[in-house]
Amino acid sequence: MRLSYSALETFKQCPLKFKFQYVERIKTPKSKEALFGTLIHKALKVLHEPGLVVPTEEELLKFFADNWDGSVYQDEQLAVLAFAQGIKILKDYYAKNYPAQFNVVALETSFEAPIKIGDDLHLVTGKIDRIDKTPENLFEVIDYKTTKKMPSQETVDKDLQLSVYHLGMANRWPSIVNEKRPVKVSLYYLKHGEKLSSLRNVENLEATKENIIRDIEQIEQTHKAGKFDPRPNALCDWCEFQRNCPFFRHKFVEEKLFFNDQDIKALINDYANIKKESEERDKKLNEIKNTLVKFMDQQGLESLFGDDGYITRSLIQRFKYDADSLRQILEPLGRWQNILKIDDAKLKKIIKELPRDLRGKIESARKLDKEYKTISLKKKK
Ligand code: SF4
Repeated sequence: MRLSYSALETFKQCPLKFKFQYVERIKTPKSKEALFGTLIHKALKVLHEPGLVVPTEEELLKFFADNWDGSVYQDEQLAVLAFAQGIKILKDYYAKNYPAQFNVVALETSFEAPIKIGDDLHLVTGKIDRIDKTPENLFEVIDYKTTKKMPSQETVDKDLQLSVYHLGMANRWPSIVNEKRPVKVSLYYLKHGEKLSSLRNVENLEATKENIIRDIEQIEQTHKAGKFDPRPNALCDWCEFQRNCPFFRHKFVEEKLFFNDQDIKALINDYANIKKESEERDKKLNEIKNTLVKFMDQQGLESLFGDDGYITRSLIQRFKYDADSLRQILEPLGRWQNILKIDDAKLKKIIKELPRDLRGKIESARKLDKEYKTISLKKKK
């Protein structure tokens, strides 16, 4: 199997989106956010392209302006704002990153990382925005981001995309492995002018491969079962395949729908309004409760009387047993196992650290316990 890092990411985000994009290869127009990001990336490539003369800030901004297409924005005001944001990003970047100070090794360069599972060889591919050589003689991989949200340092240290780049680098330059050279990996958040960096060492390579193997195995299993289910997630609002997605089917139905003579759209609006009122009431109730509790504390009272009733507060105590002592008592009676319960969250954490074959065994020991559907309200952006 040959698949890009983006394909791996997409599968994890939503198997059905993966099917639309990488199996059926349905073509969709690029979103305005994607077009904006592509143009910024192109401008930064032009800026760092090795040459005798470094482009001036004016030349950089001109490149952006010449290639700008505001027609993808439905609203002219939004187009103006986005253009101004692009100009600001490039100006800030230029001020902080004068190209002559960097030793650029490669720009927008492709990589591939071989992954062996049994006798099968898979290739994970991708593109790296920029590779530099740092003054400390390290390779530095830089990925530009045009998103607003910046992750924590901990997330960057564990970021799989950066680890996959590291794997690609190790495949391209074996000295990284042979001489155990660390690689600096960085995410440059252009809207904030912040570069978040981390180091990857040779010792990290195996864990990255394990991670990818797990993902490829899941993709293969899904292929085999032909079950690419939709996985609604926070990025659905930006998904180009909403019109093809069963989860969003109702959104694109033009005619009015009824159930027992009730207009479904009107019911949804009622539901949203009542929910809002109920949330406001809950908030108010909490505020009153907090004030009364403070008053009780101040006055040393445990009950308060109104015209329609009275409020009391009582002490609730919850106890925890000491696990070792309990075990000593119950184990000889053969009852210890009866009270043990599997902690799903802890199990999930342990599974990640186990060898692949054990992970597989645990996976096959999993049984559907119960299933039910719930309703939740998602507000329009
Ligand atoms: S809209 Fe959401 S659930 Fe549907 S395919 Fe796209 S990402 Fe998946």
